[in-house]
This record gives sequence, structure tokens and C-alpha cells, in this order.
Amino acid sequence: MLQFFNDLSKKKEIFTPIKKRGVGLYTCGPTVYNYVHIGNLRTFLLNDILRRTLEYNGYSVKNIINITDVGHLTSDADTGEDKMDKMSKAEGRAPEEIAQFFTDAFLADIKDLNIIHPNVLCKATEHIPQQIKLIKKLEKNGFTYQTSEAVYFDTAKFPEYGKMAGFSEKKTQEAQARVEEDPEKKHLADFTLWFKRVGRHAHHIMHWDSPWGDGWPGWHIECSAMSMYYLGKTFDIHGGGIDLLPVHHINEIAQSEAATGQKFVNYWVHGEFILMDSKKMARSEGGFIMLQNLIEKGFNPLAFRYLCLNTHYRTQLNFSFQALEAAQNALNKLYQAINDFPKPRGRAPEFEERFLTAINDDLNMPSALAVVWDLLKTKNIKPSAKLNTLFKFDKVLGLKFEETYNNSQDTPEEIKLLAQDREEARQEKNWKRADEIRKKIQEAGYLVEDTPTGPDIKKIIL
Ligand code: AMP
Ligand code: ZN
Repeated sequence: MLQFFNDLSKKKEIFTPIKKRGVGLYTCGPTVYNYVHIGNLRTFLLNDILRRTLEYNGYSVKNIINITDVGHLTSDADTGEDKMDKMSKAEGRAPEEIAQFFTDAFLADIKDLNIIHPNVLCKATEHIPQQIKLIKKLEKNGFTYQTSEAVYFDTAKFPEYGKMAGFSEKKTQEAQARVEEDPEKKHLADFTLWFKRVGRHAHHIMHWDSPWGDGWPGWHIECSAMSMYYLGKTFDIHGGGIDLLPVHHINEIAQSEAATGQKFVNYWVHGEFILMDSKKMARSEGGFIMLQNLIEKGFNPLAFRYLCLNTHYRTQLNFSFQALEAAQNALNKLYQAINDFPKPRGRAPEFEERFLTAINDDLNMPSALAVVWDLLKTKNIKPSAKLNTLFKFDKVLGLKFEETYNNSQDTPEEIKLLAQDREEARQEKNWKRADEIRKKIQEAGYLVEDTPTGPDIKKIIL
């Protein structure tokens, strides 16, 4: 039985979907004012293993990830400047252009990590009517008030405010204490639903007409509006990084439930941080690592995937290059073992059972990887059955076992050796020799292309 830790109850719970087979899964996506770092990507890997585990269990998943392209201020608690607006002014480029550029970079990263593309990737700026409609509903239900600067959610009207974060009123206020205060605001914890384009915000670039005047939506309302638009008033699972729990997610719960009078989400799943030098990796802190930095250093992006799989999602991951190198070595060993196997055929029921138990126990991927290594070592299973079983496990692990195997089988041994020589020459930065070998490979009728996951060899078809 599939179980995972639900932040609503702070317990591991058996997963019971709303519908029999279709599961709704929403994860908060990136704010596209800059590149995402590997910490952000760990959160999207969690979304991916959650989705794959559900699918492995026979569910069909509707997976939504949003793109925040307006409304997220430099502090999660709605103070400072809009991150998109700030970047746009600094760069002298339109916010739409910046959003498109960093969305494309984000999509390239998730492709390199073999994260399945979400069923819907929705932009906040393309769902303004849905957000306005939700704020109007909150207004009608008596949960809002206006000041000259903004429309606020009145947290005092929602007695359950902050429950998932275990907040007392005082703690809520401390956590969300503002630096720049709107003097007309009633309580510290109240959060913005709609910003008015006036006063210090008079020059905000992106703005729309609304019943409350010209302005733009707050960050929190976009996730409630889009998740409920695509998945219904109550849906199964909501994910994101752990930092979103005490502000963004309790605000999402408050405004959604105040609008509909129904429970918003049944299971909340949060992933722990990636740390660097024992501190949370954050874009605002400057010192962060991007996936492309790892690729430039010659790592296979799937080595980063392996590293994340090997640490439970609710455990902090202290990033180091030694750890990444160990992950790369482990992955290479797996590929080598796989490439030597005969064609896939047969099963390994005992291992399949152990694997399913591991992934269904709160997505215990380190344990699932241990099953993979045990399977490779055992003498009781035929190599062809091992391979078939590994291909099956890879539906969850996403380490591209099948693709790697097929590539290696189609290529003659001497071409593989040449490609290896060329790779060595490249590592030594001996570009001349690398080019000569590439030509040799080409003359033999094969093309070698450098991809983030390593050299890819294809037969030239004339
Ligand atoms: P943002 O673009 O800042 O809204 O972040 C996108 C996602 O990445 C959110 O779910 C964050 O919680 C998550 N996130 C941010 N920093 C880290 C980190 N260092 N480790 C893991 N996840 C993170
Ligand atoms: Zn969100």
C-alpha cells in the first residue's frame, strides 16, 4: 500500500485518492526571473518521483506545475519588489521576455534530469481572470478588505489560519513580520490578494484592470486559482519545497477554503533543502549552483538525479562535488553492468516486491536503489531477467537504463572503443585528437554527438 508523510497530520498516511484511478498533483513551480539552481531542481525531482511512483502503482496522474511570472515579491511575505519587475528594470528587457528565457532554461534542465514534462505548465499571467474571480468570491464571502495600496486576505476571519504550520497567532505574526508596512493593514499576517498600481508601486510594469483598480495579483492567489481551475476545489496532492509551508502554503489553504468552504488538498508533501556549506542554497544568497555548471564540469545530469534519489526527500542534502562524483561512479557502474547483459526477458518477483515496498514506504528511494544493487549482485536470477526487472524499476528511477542499453547494443565494439578514446582526449582538452577520432568514427558510418548525458553514438543513415 502506498504511503507518504502528510504535512497536514505530520504522519505517514496510506494514500487514498479522491477518484479511483486519476490523481491530481500540483507542485509550485519556479519564479522565472533567473536560472533555477540545483536546490530548486531537487523539489521538481520530488514531484517527478511522486508522479512516477503513483503511475507505477497504476494511477493516472494529472500533474500541474505553475510558472510564477508576476506577483512574487523579494520576500515571500509580500514585501519588497516584484522579482520579475525588478529584474526587468535592471536588465532593460520586458518581463515577458525574461520570463520566456528563464522558462526555456528551466524546461531544458528538467529535460536533462529526465523529469516527465507536466501535463499542464501554467503561467500566472495567463490566468488573471481566474485569480480575479477567486478574489471576488473571497470578497463576497467576507474574507477581504481594501486599503489604498492593496486588497488583503483578513486572516482573523479564518480561525484555522496557519494550522498546517502549527502556528499560534503570535508565531504567525513573527514569521510574517513585515519590513515595510502598509499602515492601513489590520493584522501582520494578512496577505495581499491584489496589489494596486499606486504609491511605491505606481511604476510596476505588468498590470491589469480589476474591480479594485489597475494592478496585479499577489503570489499566493495564483496557486490557489490555477490548481483549483485544473484539478477541482478539492484535489489529492500538493507539493513544493519545505520553505513554502509556513507562508505560501498556509495562505493557499486559507484563501482556497475560505472561497469554497471545502477542504483544499488531502495530502501535502514537502521536500527538504539542498544545502551548500551547511546553508540553504538560495538564489537570493548569490552562491548557488546550476545544473549547467555540473554539465560543464563533465558530469552527467543523471548523476545529480542519482544523488537526489540516494537521499530521502525529507532529509537535507548537503551538496558536495565528492558526493556527486560518487554518484556519477555508481551510475557508470550500473550502466556498465547493464550494457553487458543479454536481451531483457523474464522476471525477479522477490526483488519486484522489495522494490515496491521501498517506493511505497514514503518514497524511500535510497532503499529502492539498494534493491537495484542487490539484484545486480545476486546469483539466483538470470542476467536477462535482471535486465528486464531493472527496466521496470527505471520507470520510477528515471535513470535511462533502457536508452543506455539500446545505444550500447547497436554500436560495434570498435566504435565504442573509439568513442571512449575520444572522450578521454576531450577530458584532457586535446581537441585536435578528439576531432581526428570523431572523423574516424564518421568514416566508419557513425555520428558521435555530445549530449549532457555523455556522447551519443548513432549510425548514419543515408
Ligand atoms: P522559487 O522559484 O524560489 O519559488 O522556488 C521554486 C521551488 O524550489 C520551491 O518549491 C522552493 O521551495 C524550492 N527550493 C528553493 N530553494 C531550495 C533548496 N535550497 N533546496 C530545495 N528546494 C528549494
Ligand atoms: Zn505555489
